[in-house]
Amino acid sequence: MHYDVLIIGAGPGGIFSAYELVKRDPSLKVAVFEAGNELRKRNCPIDGDKIKSCIGCKSCSIMSGFGGAGAFSDGKYNITNDFGGSLYAYIGKAKALELMHYVDEINMAYGGEGTKLYSTAGSKFKKQCIQNNLHLLDASVRHLGTDINYVVLENLYNYLKDKVTFYFNTPVEKLEIAQDGYLVHSKDGVFSCQYCIVSVGRSGSKWMESVCKDLDIPTKSNRVDIGVRVELPAEVFSHLTDELYESKIVYRTEKYGDLVRTFCMNPKGAVVNENTNGIITVNGHSYEDPAKQTNNTNFALLVSKHFSEPFKDSNGYGESIARLSNMLGGGVIVQRFGDLIRGRRSNRDRMNDSFLVPTLNATPGDLSLVLPKRILDGIIEMIYALDKIAPGTANDDTMLYGVEVKFYNMEVSVDEHLMSRHEGLYVIGDGSGITHSLSHASASGVYVARDITK
Ligand SMILES: Cc1cc2nc3c(=O)[nH]c(=O)nc-3n(C[C@H](O)[C@H](O)[C@H](O)COP(=O)(O)OP(=O)(O)OC[C@H]3O[C@@H](n4cnc5c(N)ncnc54)[C@H](O)[C@@H]3O)c2cc1C
Repeated sequence: MHYDVLIIGAGPGGIFSAYELVKRDPSLKVAVFEAGNELRKRNCPIDGDKIKSCIGCKSCSIMSGFGGAGAFSDGKYNITNDFGGSLYAYIGKAKALELMHYVDEINMAYGGEGTKLYSTAGSKFKKQCIQNNLHLLDASVRHLGTDINYVVLENLYNYLKDKVTFYFNTPVEKLEIAQDGYLVHSKDGVFSCQYCIVSVGRSGSKWMESVCKDLDIPTKSNRVDIGVRVELPAEVFSHLTDELYESKIVYRTEKYGDLVRTFCMNPKGAVVNENTNGIITVNGHSYEDPAKQTNNTNFALLVSKHFSEPFKDSNGYGESIARLSNMLGGGVIVQRFGDLIRGRRSNRDRMNDSFLVPTLNATPGDLSLVLPKRILDGIIEMIYALDKIAPGTANDDTMLYGVEVKFYNMEVSVDEHLMSRHEGLYVIGDGSGITHSLSHASASGVYVARDITK
């Protein structure tokens, strides 16, 4: 079977490539190969009742399937070059922003209309942050919410399904260079294509590494971000979240000069498990629908670790720390801030005495046995700094879940077209190591589709 364009991965990068390809040239024969399920069949077995923690499904419904890792995410589309990836370094800042706005328009047309676009522009919090040695990054944030994000994906799938051939539960096993394009090997056979867009996200990182090795595509080792997810009463951050929804705040620690930053803020949201290649870490999301919201707000506090020679395996380092928490807690560990600073573990009794009801059933424990001292010191310093702009952050009952790890794919060497050294082979989205967000990954998809149809 031959296709003009074959897309590997149906996350935001793959979906927006497919969308733009068929919109610009309906005559193109396009196929999408996806390791996971179609959207309506994506189901995580954790129900909080019979199954309380991750059972390690063969294909993780949270990370894989139509919609990619973003399908059950909070649907926060950050329109900015300040974070979420370095797409701008390849295609220019103006182009990157233009494409992120274009993606936003499509999301609005496919079910997102009526959701709120927040902005840090002109916010009084910038000054308040600077006065307390905190730095608020610039961004516009479209918050679709987990529920509307799902609706948008459903509508996009309904639009695409008759124009594009989808192969679900069909991981691509091998990618080969052919005379006039590429050969893609899967359980359904071998398929050929002229152009190939690889958009396999974080869950496809190991496979991506093998492709780069086989096809001799240079890569650079990247970074890993390690930290905790903080959960506190929604009132503590409501003055910020009501106006900005998500505030990306960076703090430079006094002790080591390290940068600690807030990440993925979910007002009235829930803390959730995340399974990356069998390792259980923590994440968070929230719903747009008030009926599904909780009384708590959660966000991550992360420290980036960049390694120098001879160490190359930054993800391996993050995995080892996550494994330690999995070993001690059987999954994610939760600790009250008050217990952490008193040097004692949290246990069921101390958790029961807490005024805050945690949204994730994690194992009470001691994060100081898991996180490197330097990282933990930075997180504690930042909690006290945040307490100055959001009093209550450093309360005893503030919950810290660990560990949160942001794994970054190795950065794949591509040119300004996002094309690898092989003509017609594009590598985009989080799988390229260039993007780390819904908006950047989606924008990279639109960008390569336009390059192909041009
Ligand atoms: C719980 C959670 C919440 C998040 N919340 C946000 C948020 O609010 N805002 C934000 O900006 N970002 C968020 N993110 C990150 C965001 O989801 C990703 O940045 C984004 O999905 C990346 O898109 P992508 O298309 O590059 O990759 P992915 O979304 O990871 O999609 C890649 C797809 O490729 C498939 N695949 C992998 N290998 C193969 C193979 N060999 N063959 C075929 N298919 C393969 C995978 O199954 C997957 O479906 C969140 C992530 C998680 C896990």
